[in-house]
Parts: sequence; structure tokens; C-alpha cells
Amino acid sequence: MEGEPLRAGLRFAPLHCAGQTILEDLDGGLVLGQNEGMNISDNELQKHYGLLLGVSLPWQVAEVKLELAEKRVKICLVWQEGRKAPCPVCGQECALYDLAPERTWRHLDTMQFETILRARTPRVECSTDGVKTISVPWAEPGGRFSRLFERFAIDVLLCARSVKQAAGLMGLSWDEVDHILRRAVERGLSRREMESLSHVGIDEKSFRSGQSYISLLTDLKQSRVLDVVEGRTQEAAEALWDTLSAEQRGQIEAVAVDMWEPFLNASRLKVPQAELVHDKFHVSGHLNEAVDQVRRAEHKELMAAGDETLKGSRQLWLYNPTNFSEEQAVNFAALRDSGLKVARAWAAKELFSRLWTYRYEGAARRFFRDWFGWVSRSRLRPLVKVARMLKTHLENILTYLRHPITNAVTEGLNSKIQMIKSNARGFRSFDNYRTRILFFCGKLNLYPL
Ligand SMILES: [Zn+2]
Repeated sequence: MEGEPLRAGLRFAPLHCAGQTILEDLDGGLVLGQNEGMNISDNELQKHYGLLLGVSLPWQVAEVKLELAEKRVKICLVWQEGRKAPCPVCGQECALYDLAPERTWRHLDTMQFETILRARTPRVECSTDGVKTISVPWAEPGGRFSRLFERFAIDVLLCARSVKQAAGLMGLSWDEVDHILRRAVERGLSRREMESLSHVGIDEKSFRSGQSYISLLTDLKQSRVLDVVEGRTQEAAEALWDTLSAEQRGQIEAVAVDMWEPFLNASRLKVPQAELVHDKFHVSGHLNEAVDQVRRAEHKELMAAGDETLKGSRQLWLYNPTNFSEEQAVNFAALRDSGLKVARAWAAKELFSRLWTYRYEGAARRFFRDWFGWVSRSRLRPLVKVARMLKTHLENILTYLRHPITNAVTEGLNSKIQMIKSNARGFRSFDNYRTRILFFCGKLNLYPL
């Protein structure tokens, strides 16, 4: 029959499966290029698909239908007539009640053919639980895709540069991808292990453009986002803490947090036993800002007198001197020894970083007292202001010596979140944003079983 002309005048090359030629009986039903299907009633092929899908009796592949024009394979699965089935609630063998209306599931493609599973799932009548639809072995309850397809889609999403790219590669719509993401996150959250949770970070991040924020709770040990809420108020931070159970909150030993009062208040309330540790990079950010203010004011004064000494020096005062080029090093050495105000401010900032290296609290306290005295006498107002703020928060700065934690650990996560944000351009809702952050940054077990 190979090469036999079809009605449409095309020649058809038959498919082969398990050594047999399929399509023994074309029955005149195949018209290429038009939207008509073709049923293949070949036992070997049905068994073959049964094996591929991992289904066994009482489920059977009843029909494999090729829709050539749409490049689609439809596989119809049926439950063996008269066979009892287990109740999905209690597991008891029950008589069939009826068959639910037909449902379809997208499965992994067969070659380049989109593959759809179809079945009418039996409903059982359980004496305890009433009429229930049984669960099917190829998909999770409520899923629109087979387990294998969901697994594959999750891998593609994790590897893709954007959700949009992944959707395009798999021929899925936004809603379908969203369905997969959401279910994967739900699965992951329900299985998440939290036993080792002891050091966490609470941090803010801008959301959308403008003055819109989200707050994140991060497991610093495992570098994973635990949850996200909208806003950065005390109420938002309390809601964030409430995403953990009382028992989980009870095992928190230390929290990395900046000097943002709403976060501090919420943490004192929700994890009273935990030590609060101010992020050392946040502290040095304040000191850098003070140095910069001193430089700007002094540069203005000098320029008024026609002195360009500080022109173009901004970066030099902020960079780490160990990263300077030779030329920068020479220029900076001259400025540093110039006796300018900004040079004194810079020295104060540099000196402060020694605090983080102390092992004993007593010595660190003495160091801070001396540093504070020196800065107070310096009359460098922006610096004095920061020093006073640090003094107010000193207890939660010294906790760093016991718990050397910082939110900078989450920097890698932040860049991922940034990518999620720029890829999405205008989330329909905060909830979509949260789902994606947890999918990509939650280190969850996302796969169906
Ligand atoms: Zn039951």
C-alpha cells in the first residue's frame, strides 16, 4: 500500500510501529489538509501509547487519533467496563456510578505533534463519601496537563529567559503558563521543609514604578525567599511574619533588618525572642551618604573661591581603595592627606568598618565610644547625625558579633527578582508577582509527583 495515491492526489507514506504498518484500513476517511481526523485502531499502537503514558489496566488506550492538519495527536483513554474503582477519599473499592463528562489534558508532544489526552473519568458511589470522581494516574487532580507535561513545562520555565519565552516555546497561552506556575508554587509551599529555619532577613524592594514597595522574608541560610507581601508598613511586615506558623517563628534566632522602624516594631512583636541585626551594608550606606554630603558642601565652598581640588573626586571617596588603578591611587593619596573636611569624614567612615571585626562585645563597645567621641568633636554635621543614629541602634549593631548575618546574602535573589520584574512589565496583580518570586526564588520542590 506504500505510495498508494489518496483521493486528494497526494501520496501517503504510512507510519510504522512495532514492526507493523499502521493505517491498514484507511476507509477513505483521511483528507489531508482539511480538518478531519483519522482513527488508528491498532492494538500494538494503543499498547505502545499506554506504555508511554504509564497507564495500565483498568485504564486502556482506546483510540489514537491523528489530526494531521493541526499537527495533533488525540489519545482517548477508557476505563474497563464494569471494573470497580477506589474512592479517592477513603480508598475503598466502589461500584461505578457513572462517567464524568469528557476532559482533556495536554501531554508531551509526540515528535512535532501536540498530544492531547481525552477521557471520561469514572465516578464512584462510596457508601461513606458519596459520589466522587476518581483520580487519574496521568495527571494531578484539577490539572489541565499530564504530570509529565507539567514537569517538562516547569523545567522549561526555570531555564527560559522569561515566562513569555517559555510560553512561546511550548505553545502555551499566558493563562496556561500561569496555571502551571500557580500549581507548582502551591505544591512547593505545601511540601516545604522549615525545620532548620533560624536566621532570616526582612527587606524591602520596589514594585512597579514609583513609590510602591513589597516586603520580603528570606531564609538566609538557604538563600531562599519565604514569602512576599505588598507594602512596607508595620502592618505589612506583621502579615509577612504571619506567613510563618507560631512554631516556626519561635525557632528564629536572629533577623537581619535595616533601621526601618515599621520592620523593627513588627519583628519585636512577632519574634520577641529573636535578636535583630542591622545590616552592615545598610550602615555603611548611611556613612557613605554622609561622606558625600560633606564633599558636596566643601566642593561648593572651594569652587566659590576658584579651587577645583575636589572636582571629579566623588567616586574616589566611595570606592574601596584596594580596587583603585595606579593613577586613582596617586590622586587619592594626595586628597586623603590634604586635611580637607571630606578627608576626615572619609577616615571616620573607614575607621568604623573595624567595628565588624571585633570578637568581643566589650572591646567593640569601647571602640564605638571612642569613634563616636571623635566624630562628635569633628563638627562634620552629616557624619555626626549618622553617628547619633548608630548610637541609638547600637544594641542591634553589636548583635552582628554574635550573628554575622546580612541581607546582602540575598543580593543574588534580588537580581533574579529584578529580572522577573523587568520581564513581566506590568503585572496584572501583586499576586502574579508573588507567584513568580516564589517559583523562581523560593527553592521549592515544584514538580508533580
Ligand atoms: Zn470513600
